[in-house]
Amino acid sequence: MDQEFLFELYRREIHDRKIPISLGKTCPVKCTFCYEQDISYRQTYPTPLTTQEHWQYMLNVIKSFPTREEEAWVIGGNEYMEWTDLFLHPRAMDWLEEFLETTDKKVMFFTVGYADPKRINRLAEKYPGRINYELSVITLSEHRKRLMPHAPPLEKLYEVLDGPAVTSANFYSFGPDTMSKDAEMISKINKNVILWMGCLTPLKYIDKETTEMMRHGRTYLPDEARKIYNADLPNTQMIHTESYITAFLNRNKIIKLFDRCELEKSDSVVMAGNVYRVLKQFRRNRAKFLYVPNATLGGDSDCTTLLTFKDVEKRITNETQVWLPKVIMERSSNDNRDISGDSFEEFKMKFPRVRFKVLHKINSDMSNKKLYEKGYLKNYVEDYLNNPLSKAYEAISVPN
Ligand code: SF4
Repeated sequence: MDQEFLFELYRREIHDRKIPISLGKTCPVKCTFCYEQDISYRQTYPTPLTTQEHWQYMLNVIKSFPTREEEAWVIGGNEYMEWTDLFLHPRAMDWLEEFLETTDKKVMFFTVGYADPKRINRLAEKYPGRINYELSVITLSEHRKRLMPHAPPLEKLYEVLDGPAVTSANFYSFGPDTMSKDAEMISKINKNVILWMGCLTPLKYIDKETTEMMRHGRTYLPDEARKIYNADLPNTQMIHTESYITAFLNRNKIIKLFDRCELEKSDSVVMAGNVYRVLKQFRRNRAKFLYVPNATLGGDSDCTTLLTFKDVEKRITNETQVWLPKVIMERSSNDNRDISGDSFEEFKMKFPRVRFKVLHKINSDMSNKKLYEKGYLKNYVEDYLNNPLSKAYEAISVPN
């Protein structure tokens, strides 16, 4: 790749508030659940191992951007590059330190635990409030060996957790006494870490054994969540469940937004299964719900945000007017492209007889905000598991 194009890629990632360091190869950790195993659905470029000269260029471009209080810069590009654990880069800690020293910006990163525990905890003390460290614990259980054969040992995880650096730890249900035991253990080490829990969704390219482990874990999510709820741990407890549960927890907002769109009964509206179930239960026959499966990602994915134009294309038959939620064309800043990089303009040209309209209020800002607002374990237990309406909701099937 020539330098001019490489720097152009850096600028594009930086524009989206990414710090596009690269390992110059695919991620060597090889977690079996990794969503980057198959990235053929989007266009990425094989960027070389980041050198000091590349870093200097990136840092200078980053410094030219204004600092915003609410904004954190993410380590790693992921629009045009492949996602990897960047703390495996031999210079990552040095560059992180330089970023903190020479800018006043916040930083955010995800790692399975490769950041040097002593150094990162020292940096967190020196620069309070500027580091958002999301530790991908995944599981402390016996399943760890199978799912993450090359991840750091547990001792290293416990060492980093025992300090101020880690903001949140994420881990999942893989069966009885997995997520609940992990929650207790992590809370014992650190009462300030946010516990992000839930289950992993199998996508079409995840191997059979891992898929079964994910599905098995999902069946135990209610029990595991109840145990944690009853344990009354002092940590903040969030949960990311399957998206249809998130949609149910946000049903009032979804219904309100839908009503405000003032659609006619004959209007066709694109949605994945999560929103389909909500509208089928609470707004039956108010419009034509054009259910679109998440065929690009496949597996058990069921989320309107992750639909692609190719998914929608497969479901269009004789409609003359179709409404699309804005959220499916917000891959990055205002470029009207879906998660695979296909553009809305090109998609529309394939259907000259259909009039496409955009539901602008159904956008990523709104969905991210709601995900956090209703994303507490408490919401899941009290308003989903203990709510009789959720049983009828789960019984709603999506069309073929
Ligand atoms: S460390 Fe992260 S990027 Fe690397 S294989 Fe595991 S999940 Fe994927």
